[in-house]
Amino acid sequence: MISIEENYSLKELNTFSIDVRAANYSELTELSQLVDMAQHHAFRQGLLVLGGGSNFLFTKSVDQWVIHNQLKGIHQIQENANYVWIEASAGENWHEFVRHTIEKGYGGIENLSLIPGYLGATPVQNIGAYGAEVKDVITEVKAWHIQEKRFYSFSNEDCRFGYRDSIFKHKYKNQLIITSVIFRLSKNPEFNIEYGGIRKELEKMKITTLSLKAISDAVINIRRAKLPDPAQIGNAGSFFKNPVIKKELFKPLTKEYPSMPFYKTKTDEYKIPAAWLIEQCGWKGYRKGNIGIHPHQALILVNYGGADGKEIFDLSKQIIASVKNKFGLQLQREVNNYGESGVEST
Ligand code: FAD
Ligand code: NAP
Repeated sequence: MISIEENYSLKELNTFSIDVRAANYSELTELSQLVDMAQHHAFRQGLLVLGGGSNFLFTKSVDQWVIHNQLKGIHQIQENANYVWIEASAGENWHEFVRHTIEKGYGGIENLSLIPGYLGATPVQNIGAYGAEVKDVITEVKAWHIQEKRFYSFSNEDCRFGYRDSIFKHKYKNQLIITSVIFRLSKNPEFNIEYGGIRKELEKMKITTLSLKAISDAVINIRRAKLPDPAQIGNAGSFFKNPVIKKELFKPLTKEYPSMPFYKTKTDEYKIPAAWLIEQCGWKGYRKGNIGIHPHQALILVNYGGADGKEIFDLSKQIIASVKNKFGLQLQREVNNYGESGVEST
């Protein structure tokens, strides 16, 4: 049985702390609750699956039935000389899961420490940070199709992972509830400390022998120093994706802006840090009333308290327009915007 609450406040369930309500809201704690969901009156309005709410901007109250995933459980299901396979339920807290695997001595997700949210959301946007992406350790995603009343199993390839992207943002958007994810983690981890100041932080920490825990602690220290804590200032992390552009577009841009940072991708394209583009347009540290752009991180839009989701969305529109105007580049939103026509990301 699944119980449904009506007119439920989502303020504590989204890291922007936007005060909106869900017409219907349920907590999913047992797989057995899935079976009868399609029979409920609330299902007629469609579904919105919520994890930690750290990648949502709500600009209006939610007509859809909000399913808050609280499925728990972590099990080692397979092992060989080099790897372990761990199946973990979608409602587990991601960072706690990362620390659990580190305690066990299994490597692969230490660079993804302190990313907010639940484990079940990690394949949705293929979370990434400090040179790691979750796609590199996922072997299977299990999900329940509510209308079809059956489980789907997605192999890594089926997930169509891309840069902050997967099939769950497209073909299966709002149709599936991811119930668990299987990760293949290494018993003989290779450490990745080349990215984003990790090496420098390890030196500062006076680490002489590398370990999974030391890398995780270094990432935690960098993140705590640089990123606003949603418990203090409402935000959903990077609001925009970094544009990845083709050579033909990159060449004239880099000629015009020789100081523009860039990273060449494996596919011979160029990733331009969106934070730099936004900063060049003069937005960094901007504040108007309750909303603004973080003074240390131009990619992070913030709610200083009491803001309306629409104000933040409108600010994101202005930023997109000014970057387009100055550089001719179209920023895409990374955060899922819940607005008039349901959830849209761009
Ligand atoms: P939610 O915001 O609840 O949901 C996000 C999307 O996933 C929605 O479309 C939702 O419908 C869907 N979804 C959630 N759970 C399920 C499920 N079980 N089944 C089907 N669909 C589901 N992201 C990064 O990639 N890298 C970072 O380094 C990073 N740093 C961040 C730092 C801060 C301070 C903040 C606030 C956010 C950051 N993020 C980062 C963004 C965010 O934390 C991640 O995208 C995270 O994985 C979202 O998890 P969540 O549980 O909060 O998802
Ligand atoms: P940063 O280290 O200041 O770097 C700025 C941008 O340049 C990053 O977005 C990163 O792209 C890119 N970059 C830096 N070094 C790179 C390299 N060696 N190779 C390829 N690309 C490189 O970024 P930051 O804001 O402090 O964030 C650090 C990490 O945490 C980044 O990976 C970032 O994605 C992640 N993060 C994500 C969110 C979110 O909500 N999605 C929020 C906070 C932090 P990538 O973003 O592609 O890595």
